[in-house]
Parts: sequence; structure tokens; C-alpha cells
Amino acid sequence: MPAPNIPIWSDGNSLGLPPLRGEIWADTVVVGLGASGLAAVLDLLARKKTVVGIEAGSVGSGAAGRNGGFLLAGMHAFHHQVVKAHGRAAADEVYKLTMAELDRVATETPEAVRRTGSLRLASDAEELEDCKAHFDALRQSGLPREWYEGPEGKGILVPGDAVFQPLTRCRQMARRAMALEARLHESSPALEIDGNFVRTREGMVRCERVIVAVDGGLERVLPELTRRVRTARLQMLATAPAPEVKYPRPVYWRYGYEYWQQLPDGRIALGGFRDKGGDAEWTIDATPTDEVQEHIERFLREQLHVNAAVTHRWAASVGYAQDGLPVIEEARPGVWAAGAYSGTGNLLGPLSARTAVALSLGERTPLADLLGA
Ligand SMILES: Cc1cc2nc3c(=O)[nH]c(=O)nc-3n(C[C@H](O)[C@H](O)[C@H](O)COP(=O)(O)OP(=O)(O)OC[C@H]3O[C@@H](n4cnc5c(N)ncnc54)[C@H](O)[C@@H]3O)c2cc1C
Repeated sequence: MPAPNIPIWSDGNSLGLPPLRGEIWADTVVVGLGASGLAAVLDLLARKKTVVGIEAGSVGSGAAGRNGGFLLAGMHAFHHQVVKAHGRAAADEVYKLTMAELDRVATETPEAVRRTGSLRLASDAEELEDCKAHFDALRQSGLPREWYEGPEGKGILVPGDAVFQPLTRCRQMARRAMALEARLHESSPALEIDGNFVRTREGMVRCERVIVAVDGGLERVLPELTRRVRTARLQMLATAPAPEVKYPRPVYWRYGYEYWQQLPDGRIALGGFRDKGGDAEWTIDATPTDEVQEHIERFLREQLHVNAAVTHRWAASVGYAQDGLPVIEEARPGVWAAGAYSGTGNLLGPLSARTAVALSLGERTPLADLLGA
């Protein structure tokens, strides 16, 4: 039987950081220590600010350490859709920012990243037409792309994309931040957040500003964002080594609803079918359900032709923004929020959190300008 709700990325250990106790001071408090919050912490340290980071669970215990491990350039919508909605110049600019972010992740944590390229494959004839429109938009923007027809199917190969071990990345970022004297605390949910202080069960940090870097459940931490953000559950499973199949690159399928990759040791990590779970998947509850897991497993057997045993089943929460654009804003005086990446925050999240830091210090960034944040 698979261990309950543990992602394939977990080795069963954690960094074991102490909870926040007593009253302390810092220039900035960062709430949430996923990859986005940790990017904010590291950015603040580079600006010579004192930082306290607090995390309700453990470092990377949210989606940042429990996701599909894809590092895909672009936003949550495909490039042709972003061009249509926001114009080519803005779409190209954001795309290039995410490409640069991918290079940064690969440079900072080479041990966690594999530059495999990625495939977006069509699940039917209608989607094949959409892949062609997507390909054409990438071509017109001069962005990396190849038309792909191979054993997995037909669609687009994006040569620069990558996969990574998301939990390793989070822990490396936390270690680096602590080496630079950030104070990071686990098991310390923020119970009260104000621009000048954050209170936890056993402690309090007085500060000049707060960055809330929470994706799934952002509207619970900052209820004023309820109208803009909705939390959904995404589910995955993983298998024992599956030498009977070969997927050299991560695959995005059925408009990205399904996604899978094969690890170098042959194990498969596969997620999807959020839509098949219906309204029940719009929830803050991050436990896997039989209904969605059955859809994923059927797909594993019938579409991917994998026979290997299922070893992991897990879920995590992500925030969807009503307008599809990440939330980067001053939600209350002195409290800046970054989140709601609509299922694709591995690159957009750190970019958005660093933008929240810049805005909190009265600066602009290219992403802020592009999103009108
Ligand atoms: C199954 C799945 C597959 C995915 N696949 C991909 C993918 O392949 N590619 C991609 O780009 N994106 C993917 N995503 C989305 C991506 O994982 C997220 O957008 C991203 O990881 C968000 O990271 P984050 O650091 O912004 O937020 P989170 O991971 O949500 O981190 C926020 C942290 O804040 C903590 N927290 C919450 N409330 C409080 C509080 N009150 N006080 C203190 N701490 C608090 C949480 O415990 C959490 O650790 C996937 C998500 C899931 C769930």
C-alpha cells in the first residue's frame, strides 16, 4: 500500500527547524517557506535586510515540495492565448522572464534540475489544431520550439524546458538563506498578520513589512483576497521503476490537465484529472480522493501502458486567480501578497515573490510593469 499522502520527492526527513518563540524584530517577515517565500527571503538578504521566515508546516510542505516537478517557460495559459489576451510584446516579455528564471534555478541547484526539454502533446484532433496555433505563436515570437511527432504522440517540443526535484530545491534554498543568517521557523503558522507584526502560537515578530508567499489557501491567510483567489486540490501518483515504458521528456497532455515524467531510475510521476473530480476539487483539503486517483491510475495503465506498482499517492493545494494572472499586491497596509499561480508556480512563483519584495520597497520590476501590479 502506498504511504498516505507522501510525495515521491520526500525522503521522510525535514530540516527540523524550531518554532518561533518569544518576541523578536526583523526588517521583514516572510510568511510561507515554499520556493516563492524562500526566493523572497534570499532576495531580501541580498538587499541586506534582516529577515524572519515562518512556515506553518515544514519547508516545502505545500505545493512547492509536492508538485509535478515541471519547469516550463511561460504562464499558466499557452503562449498563443497569452498573446491574444495581453498582446505579443507583454506575452513575449513574461515568457522570457520565466526562461531566465529557469536558468537561475538550474544554475543555483544543478543537482536538482534536468534540462530535458518538454512535450505538449495533443489528446485529440481538436487539441492538435490548438497545438499548431500554440506552435505558430512561439514561432512568430522567435521562442524555442520544434514540431514533434514521435512515439508519445504529436505536438510541440520546447527544447529549453526542464524537470526538477522540487523539495530538494526548497531545502537548498532554506539552507542557503540560513547560511546568510535568515531566521527560519517551521511549525509556526501566522495567526495574525499586520504590516508591523506577525503573531504565531508561541511568538511574535515586529517588523517594517510582511511578504505573504502562499499559493494554495492564500485567501484563507488574507481573506480580503477571497474574491480574486480560489483554492483547488491537485492530485498525483507515482510508481516503482517502469522499464516497460520510456518517456525521456516530461509530457503535458489534454491542455495540461494531465502531466507526467519518468525519473532517471524509471519511476513515473503522473498527475491530473482535476476536472473529473468536479466541484469537490475546489477545496482547501489536500488529501487524495478515490475518484480522482482512479482516473489517474486508469490513465497510467491504459494510456501510458505502465504495469509497475503504484507506490505514492498525494495531493496539494494551489491557488487559481480569477483573471489568470498571479496576485502580487499590497493586500493590507505593509502586507504584500504573492500567490495564485493557477497551477504553474514553479517559475512564476519566485518571480512574483521577488516582485512583491521590490514593490514593498517602493521599486518596480519588469513583471510588475507587465502585470500592472
Ligand atoms: C500536484 C501539483 C502539481 C503541480 N505541478 C506543477 C508543475 O509541474 N509546474 C509548475 O510550475 N507548477 C506546478 N504546480 C504548482 C506549483 O507547485 C505551485 O504553484 C508552487 O509550488 C507554489 O509555491 P509557493 O512557494 O508559491 O507556495 P506554497 O507551496 O503554497 O508554499 C506556501 C507555504 O506557506 C505555508 N503557509 C500557509 N499558510 C501559512 C500561515 N498562515 N503561516 C505560515 N505559513 C503558512 C504552507 O504550509 C506552504 O508551505 C503543481 C502543484 C501541484 C499541487
